Amino acid sequence: MTADSSSERRFERALASLRGLAVGDALGSQFFVPANYPLLKRRELPPEPWQWTDDTEMACSVLAVLAEHGRVDQDALALSFAHHHDFDRGYGPAVNRMLRLIREGGDWRELAAGLFKGQGSWGNGAAMRIAPLGAWYADDPEQATHQAEISSYTTHQHREAVVGCMAVAAAAALAADPAGPPKPEDLLDGVVALVPRSAVGAGLRRARDMLDYGDAATVAAVLGSGRRTSAHDTVPFALWSAARSLGDFEQAFWTTAQVGGDVDTTCAIAGGVVAATAAGVPPAEWADRTEALPDWLPTGPAGA
Ligand SMILES: [Mg+2]
Repeated sequence: MTADSSSERRFERALASLRGLAVGDALGSQFFVPANYPLLKRRELPPEPWQWTDDTEMACSVLAVLAEHGRVDQDALALSFAHHHDFDRGYGPAVNRMLRLIREGGDWRELAAGLFKGQGSWGNGAAMRIAPLGAWYADDPEQATHQAEISSYTTHQHREAVVGCMAVAAAAALAADPAGPPKPEDLLDGVVALVPRSAVGAGLRRARDMLDYGDAATVAAVLGSGRRTSAHDTVPFALWSAARSLGDFEQAFWTTAQVGGDVDTTCAIAGGVVAATAAGVPPAEWADRTEALPDWLPTGPAGA
């Protein structure tokens, strides 16, 4: 086993990504507060507290299951989502109801498959939580993509939600390459090559073509920025922004947040991917102002 594939090293990388995800989520969600709107234009930090939302809560379950099982165990993941579900963290109504039913003994396979008249959810909820899994599998982007696919089914079974989740995990795995982060175009080319044909994939190819655009608002107008909270309306722009700012968390955050949309989620995705790189840690002051991760999160991999 190499130094980069030891479970301790995997855990460390995934935790770094989770911290970036939590800062992006918590700070991003502050810009749903109307009094904070003017601060966004001036790139000024809003007052504390910065509380994280469902994105971080679910991402903690992803890392907890990887730490315990060394891979995605779907039953353990669904149960962790359900048992740690805090109704006040901004979940969508369908997921709120489903997690309550799982807690009461319902079968996640039936419940997730039955959402939205049997089509499954195409929301961005599987993608928003998955960057730490990509960081965990930094030496194996194909395995990251496969494990992400499995993880998505516990809540989001529509093809676009699954592919969005795969894309974010692939991006985090490629960004976390122990040899150093890729160039923006190589990151998005790598992600496109790892995901199946889909609306998310089409959006990613368009994002790749727009990497040299300086105006994030124009790019967001084309790609979407989560206003419809679907995976295909969220993931391409978040990864466009992350790809351009690998190694610069602040720039990634402001570029992502300034266009509006589902800001906690686009910033959780971009933050989790950028923080998967060694140089992409959030500023210490930002991390200090962000609510601490929950105390049920393991402090290391099982058996370490
Ligand atoms: Mg949220």
